[in-house]
Amino acid sequence: MTELPRLTPTGGCRDTPILKQRGQREVFCGLTGIIWLHRKMQDAFFLVIGSRTCAHLLQSAAGVMIFAEPRFGTAILEETDLAGLADAQDELDKVVTELLARRPDIKQLFLVGSCPSEVIKLDLAKAAERMSQVHAPHVRVLNFSGSGIETTFTQGEDACLASMVPVLPKTDARQLLLVGALPDVVEEQAIGLLEAMGIGPIKVLPAPRADADLGLGDNTVYALMQPFLGDTHDALTRAGARHIPAPFPFGEEGTTQWLAAIAAEFGVAPDLFEQVTAAPRARARKAIAQAAQGLRGKSVFFFPDSQLEIPLARFLTRECGMDAIEVGAPFIHKGLVGPDLDLLAAGPTISEGQDVDLQLDRAKAAKPDLTVCGLGLANPLEAEGLATKWAIELVFTPVHFYEQAGDLAGLFSRPIRRADVLKLDPASSLGQKYPGGVGAGPHAGQT
Ligand code: SF4
Repeated sequence: MTELPRLTPTGGCRDTPILKQRGQREVFCGLTGIIWLHRKMQDAFFLVIGSRTCAHLLQSAAGVMIFAEPRFGTAILEETDLAGLADAQDELDKVVTELLARRPDIKQLFLVGSCPSEVIKLDLAKAAERMSQVHAPHVRVLNFSGSGIETTFTQGEDACLASMVPVLPKTDARQLLLVGALPDVVEEQAIGLLEAMGIGPIKVLPAPRADADLGLGDNTVYALMQPFLGDTHDALTRAGARHIPAPFPFGEEGTTQWLAAIAAEFGVAPDLFEQVTAAPRARARKAIAQAAQGLRGKSVFFFPDSQLEIPLARFLTRECGMDAIEVGAPFIHKGLVGPDLDLLAAGPTISEGQDVDLQLDRAKAAKPDLTVCGLGLANPLEAEGLATKWAIELVFTPVHFYEQAGDLAGLFSRPIRRADVLKLDPASSLGQKYPGGVGAGPHAGQT
């Protein structure tokens, strides 16, 4: 088996001074999370209280025109609603009553706030409380904000999960809670590995259905599967549960360390840990070595977007041989990404927040081989000759744990390979079609 050489961490980045920027930022809003959450929570409905822009965003992010009964929708505040907010509350009650009468399958209803100032003025927490009293016990009504003013796109999931924590019943059972919405097949892999070590009972937040046997208490320990769940982490801690800190399960190393932290909590014997993880670890290393061939020695620059940036930089530098120039994240919560920062070799600029023009200047000056950024920045950067990777794809694609580790490396190597091919053959059909550069075309840089 070909193994990549492991770099020795040079002190890590936990104490590296963070470049904090609070200027203009280019990110999607938290409504985006509804796209993956509504698939995961099978009896939930997400009612966005918003504008036509919100409705269009959801519809295009979902990639479909909705003709059948979907599990999300937008209650659009028209301009005529702006005059009287008391009427808006009545209207909202009416919409919800009609929706729940028509859809008895809905057991959890989320009222999701958005940007328009009229929506911000609506007290959705009160509305949810009022509606819960009317529709309990059949339906649980909760609220969270997906507003682009307050959230980046992965914070929608965080806000949604955090809103569920206070209404979970109490339990004294000793249990492991896995937190984060992953595709079912990936979640099953994680649970399979943990159960093979004798760890259990294992619960997942979000549960697929509201009536799942999910409670919380002082004997609950939890492991986060996504690095953007800061508010959920705080809510769980307030509810008495205890966090198991670990690097996030990206790549072979991250997955092994994540599993090892849980195994240590549950007293799993080293032999058993080795027995359960040896084969998938070997598969992951082999897949990464193949997929990362084009990444070794290349440089990467992260714009802040998904909050996956720090764990991914750790994966790309330590397992794929890349050099990180800047690792930007919307927020840096050391209680969550501290273990990944410990492993990330000192050197890159660690930045939090954004002042997009200044950061674009830094990226253009550094000329990285790969820039990981949001959709809005990808095409202009490609037009400047930089290869890019859309950060949002990293959230929509199964990339966690051993069996997806090769695919994760592949997501980064494809745009570099494509850029190399175009450099070698500038007269290729893509080069001719978009003479202003690869990025001048639609969906530039994405494969
Ligand atoms: S940014 Fe605001 S207005 Fe735009 S879609 Fe998101 S929540 Fe709606």
